Amino acid sequence: MFSTHPIRVVPRDPVLFLDPDVQRGEPLLTICSWCMKVRLPNQGWVELEEVVNYLDILGSGMVPSLTHGVCRECQGDIEKELKILK
Ligand SMILES: [Zn+2]
Repeated sequence: MFSTHPIRVVPRDPVLFLDPDVQRGEPLLTICSWCMKVRLPNQGWVELEEVVNYLDILGSGMVPSLTHGVCRECQGDIEKELKILK
């Protein structure tokens, strides 16, 4: 079981594709549950603002579906924490 707490809060502009009430379609993107970076095809894990640019490039007008995962950086941090707890 994991529990999380914020270590800092950084204000950002609202991002449409994080709105839980928006209708979604393709593509299906994975978002890191810890840091909110998104994995883009052939680009790896990127910040939310880069995803907005990527979606503009696609020009589909469709908001992507999201599934949750863990990026490599956060996975490394989690593994370090687990080793400390052992
Ligand atoms: Zn992450």
